[in-house]
Amino acid sequence: MMKKNLEKILSFSFLFCIILFSKTFAENGHKVHEHGTSNITIAIENNDLQIQLEAPLIDIAGFEGEPKTKLQKQKLKEASNKLKNWEDIFKLATGSCSKDRVTILGEHKKKQIHNHKNHHKKNEKNIHSDIKILYEFNCAKPNNFKFLEIKLFETFPNIRKINAQWTTASGQGQKALNKKQNKLIIR
Ligand SMILES: [Zn+2]
Repeated sequence: MMKKNLEKILSFSFLFCIILFSKTFAENGHKVHEHGTSNITIAIENNDLQIQLEAPLIDIAGFEGEPKTKLQKQKLKEASNKLKNWEDIFKLATGSCSKDRVTILGEHKKKQIHNHKNHHKKNEKNIHSDIKILYEFNCAKPNNFKFLEIKLFETFPNIRKINAQWTTASGQGQKALNKKQNKLIIR
């Protein structure tokens, strides 16, 4: 009797751990994406500042998967142009940084795993995709680089949350940002 109960408890907590683990996994933005949530990774090394943005394509261009119609192709092009215009994405007020280049790493990388509820109709294909952009800057005074303002929420209103992570020579951190809290203090 005791043994059976113990087994029950053990299997329950194991299941619970899996649920917790997959939730964390989702929150970190790998494998699973959630509409409305993007990820930003910031790294500063010497004079180089790299910012990588990964967003669900639907939040950026209004569709997911490969662009099929003329309108979708047009939307993707417009969205890419908006993303390349980095001053509408970030505001860098400290560190005397200037743009090196903006690279779109993946426009519609396919993603099969997904975790939103009440999302797709039964006969709809379960296609999800992300867009990835790498922004590279050269900062004349990297030690003065203290914060970054995210303007992405205004440029793409479908983005409601950003999970930001950063790494500098002196440390690292992470923060969830939104339209009201759009400033990331690095140090
Ligand atoms: Zn999706």
